[in-house]
Amino acid sequence: MKVLVINAGSSSLKYQLLDTGNQQVLAKGLCERIGIDGKFTYKAPGKDTVDAVDVPMPTHSEAIQAVLDALVDKANGVIASMGEIDAVGHRVVHGGETFAGSVRIDDRVMAALEACIPLAPLHNPANITGIRACQAVLGPGVPQVAVFDTAFHQTMPPVAYTYPLPYEYYEKDKVRRYGFHGTSHKYVSQRAAAMLGKPLESLKLISCHLGNGSSVTAIDGGKSVDTSMGFTPLAGLPMGTRSGDLDAGILEYLMGRYNLDIGEMLDILNKKSGVLGVSGVSSDFRDLGQAGEQGNRRAALAVDLFNYGVKKYIGAYAAAMGGVDAVIFTAGVGENSPEQRLAIASDLEFMGLKMDPAANNVRGKETVISTPDSKVKALLIPTNEELMIALDTAALA
Ligand code: ADP
Repeated sequence: MKVLVINAGSSSLKYQLLDTGNQQVLAKGLCERIGIDGKFTYKAPGKDTVDAVDVPMPTHSEAIQAVLDALVDKANGVIASMGEIDAVGHRVVHGGETFAGSVRIDDRVMAALEACIPLAPLHNPANITGIRACQAVLGPGVPQVAVFDTAFHQTMPPVAYTYPLPYEYYEKDKVRRYGFHGTSHKYVSQRAAAMLGKPLESLKLISCHLGNGSSVTAIDGGKSVDTSMGFTPLAGLPMGTRSGDLDAGILEYLMGRYNLDIGEMLDILNKKSGVLGVSGVSSDFRDLGQAGEQGNRRAALAVDLFNYGVKKYIGAYAAAMGGVDAVIFTAGVGENSPEQRLAIASDLEFMGLKMDPAANNVRGKETVISTPDSKVKALLIPTNEELMIALDTAALA
């Protein structure tokens, strides 16, 4: 089946056309500056690359049209006609408590997505716009599926998702832990079972999605039972620019001292904190690694603080599940930084995890990176959210 995967943001739209039969990417790219002017990028194996060329994109509809035009282009396209697109899968950030899995989109689903907007006011409107644009351009004949970042975590028990706040805030306002990166955690857990040659239902896994945004998830028998992100993606680990968990009392203290309103405070917590805030150098772990090697102590501290945070979650989730069979590393840092993987998983021999420094010295490839006699396995698994979205879409369409 040929599935178009769409990840729409407020002014950008990433796309991939995948063949779910052989799991190949036929073409992929990016529309940027939607609503401003419009830049279009397109890459397909064996074809000419289109790199950030000007294409007017007043709305997401023109962006989708540009994608379709490129896909069917006589010289550079990969399909003969739009009719070859069997279905469209959309990444949707927040499904609230309504969606515990992917769904085929209809009017009822659209209404439920609208109802979730207050939970993700920046992301869901853009996702909805992307869906409407596809409906308008492709017509009602092509099935559209929504795949949620939150859905995989809907299996968490109340003890993991309830905040110790007055209970009516959960009942009336749906304030609870939702968790994010669900598509990635689900994908790598399935790959882990395949790599270990064991049924997913029999495994206790800890999945570490370490990128610009980072989260750790405890997966017991294939189900998410706890995760580090919360009501919003601001919770849990320190990240590129987000603070992660902190004492809420700090907010009042800093807002009072610097006369900040809540918007300014949240801007600091979302965009100026994390490893960027601590280092004062960069939110990019490659820059921090270099700066640290050149003797920048704050850059080194930022990386140490991040690694330490991941290690603490691994310990916590092993305790929460009463054991662990494998720890998975994925996303930008998890896939590409042998040094950080080693720093995170060192000193975990006490719980049966012994890293193999030689096996760990790889990037971006599915590999076991613990020693053959390690009771708990450490796995490097490149994530593939687009493939997961395409497979869910194909199954539902
Ligand atoms: P997101 O999808 O959340 O934007 P990614 O999963 O692409 O993020 O991860 C981006 C992060 O991965 C960046 O901080 C980047 O520095 C880090 N990264 C990529 N390659 C390396 C590397 N070789 N060593 C360390 N960090 C890396």
